[in-house]
Amino acid sequence: MMPDYFPEDIKPYIIPEAKGELYYQCLGCAAQYPVDKLLYVCPSCGEVLLIHDRKALSLKKIPGPVWQKIFDFRRMLKIPALKGIYRYHEFIGSCIPLESIVYLGEGHTPVVEANARLKEKVGLSFFYKNDGQNPSASFKDRGMASALSSIKYLIDQKRISNVIAVCASTGDTSASAALYASYLGPLIKSAVLLPHKKVTSQQLSQPLGSGARVFEIPGVFDDCMKIVESLSSRYSVVLLNSKNAWRILGQESYSYEIAQDFDWKMKDKVIVVPIGNAGNISAVMSGFIKFFEYGIIDALPKIIGVQSEHADPVYRYYLEPDEAKRNFIPVHTKPSVAQAAMIGNPVSMPRVIQISKKYDELAGCRQVFFIRVTEQSIMDWQLQANHNGHIACTQGGECLAGLAEAFLQKIVTADETAILDATAHAIKFSEFQDLYFRSEIPDDYKIKSNPDFINLPTLVLPDDPDMIPSQQKRLNEKDFKRFVQEISDKIAEKLKLDISE
Ligand SMILES: *Cc1c(COP(=O)(O)O)cnc(C)c1O
Ligand SMILES: [Zn+2]
Repeated sequence: MMPDYFPEDIKPYIIPEAKGELYYQCLGCAAQYPVDKLLYVCPSCGEVLLIHDRKALSLKKIPGPVWQKIFDFRRMLKIPALKGIYRYHEFIGSCIPLESIVYLGEGHTPVVEANARLKEKVGLSFFYKNDGQNPSASFKDRGMASALSSIKYLIDQKRISNVIAVCASTGDTSASAALYASYLGPLIKSAVLLPHKKVTSQQLSQPLGSGARVFEIPGVFDDCMKIVESLSSRYSVVLLNSKNAWRILGQESYSYEIAQDFDWKMKDKVIVVPIGNAGNISAVMSGFIKFFEYGIIDALPKIIGVQSEHADPVYRYYLEPDEAKRNFIPVHTKPSVAQAAMIGNPVSMPRVIQISKKYDELAGCRQVFFIRVTEQSIMDWQLQANHNGHIACTQGGECLAGLAEAFLQKIVTADETAILDATAHAIKFSEFQDLYFRSEIPDDYKIKSNPDFINLPTLVLPDDPDMIPSQQKRLNEKDFKRFVQEISDKIAEKLKLDISE
């Protein structure tokens, strides 16, 4: 719809202006820093940062229901900069002018309801939000659109130039970083660090295809992260890991979209996310807090963070019920099919601790829960979901395993509705599915292939080896007819087909 056609009360707000005054705030010492400098940790105490807006209070002059209307009408705009996460500009990067926004088609991913069969297996109604349908096929594009827009803004303002962007990754961050950086080439060049043999071949091919420099490092993600931290503290590089607070800000869009897709009604909703570096769960909680504080949603939904038993530091931290006695201890990870979340020392742990506390306080009761699941259940629930029309990755399977477990533990009940994060597309992690189907998952994963799920292709050949057609050797017309008949009969036999009348 053209801006002129919008109702009079909405018109003044429909195109956002870059009026925000954003600043970084340290989670350790609360020091504040301007966002026109590149900053990832507090220069005085070394803690991670979050971004806030000095003008945020003035947004409260607009009542919640009016915000709802603004966002619903913005849906009809055709302006590319406002087609993605910046539909929620005032809450997501309000200092960035529309000209600096980078939009590659991220956000507004489909929310797909589970069919009756799958709901019955789990015990309650739920939806998958398919963040694998983002441009690089994972949710990381939300944060990357935000981080790269902030960098483009600094470049446009001539505050920085010749940017080399770096990140460490369990696979998806680097795919996303390389994609967005390539769009802004040659203003930005990107380099990504991956743990050698700890990302899937699809994830390795993505940054290579985008033209990034790719470095493979021995060890696991936590080791790569240390190298990136060393690089960023000693050399002039832009850090694109979720240490970068802009990433968190952009990922808040996930919550805003859920709120909008469910008509702002978050009462009796349960949001399930996998936890790796804990950036995503921090962003998801922070997003709901903002919309709740501005009266845009009616309640704070329940949050369930899920971890594998092979990478469970956040779960372990919250096992201690007494807040004063909790003590964060990083873990050494074991091999996990939820490889994108296989992190023993999450960078955003301080964010989780602060934000989840605030979340529970605002909700007036415990609303944030942490669940641990087995590797076996991750694979089995992923396959179960995908046998019922979904495109969940292993981390999406982890969410469903977590929901089933939360139902058993009575943390959720049958009268609630869950929204699960399918954080990446299934095809990015198909290597684990292939290993499962061939019963070749290495022992240290502790996964046995369930015969009910195993699915392997059947090669159908004619009995006579001379009757096999190929590109090099075509059969004559008569032989080819016989070939077609023989093969179709064999398929019909395997499928137990009836002859048509
Ligand atoms: C990064 C990632 C995660 C973990 O998210 P964090 O923000 O690191 O907790 C989960 N699933 C997929 C597919 C990812 O790429
Ligand atoms: Zn500090």
